[in-house]
Amino acid sequence: MFPPTTKILVVDDMPTIRDLVKNQLRAMGFKNIVEAADGEVALNTVISQAAAGTPIELIVSDWNMPKMTGLEFLKQIRASDQFAKLPFILLTSESERDQVTEAIMAGVSQYVVKPFAAKAFEEKLKGVWAKVSAAG
Ligand SMILES: [Mg+2]
Repeated sequence: MFPPTTKILVVDDMPTIRDLVKNQLRAMGFKNIVEAADGEVALNTVISQAAAGTPIELIVSDWNMPKMTGLEFLKQIRASDQFAKLPFILLTSESERDQVTEAIMAGVSQYVVKPFAAKAFEEKLKGVWAKVSAAG
């Protein structure tokens, strides 16, 4: 599993969902969580945190957001040499189910369909960590 010190960026336009995700992550033992309300702010956060020497190590992002969607954010991240391998989990809703293939093609590490139980979310995180650690 990701170490408790892993720096995690939680992105969602709904504060209640951000709180929910943060609480689930904290309950799993994660202590280093930052947040953003849309893809544009999130992308700037990824860039500025890396520049500050405190890089984001895992992204958990909503799909449907104003200004920049989670899918567009994912594509920007994967298009960057610096962040191409950054673990990226998308939170999707039923309405995006048909577009999940596009997210997989774009290189999403894993996706979670809302609403999700904490246990299911933790299993997805473990799966992503297994891939990340296998890749070295
Ligand atoms: Mg949303």
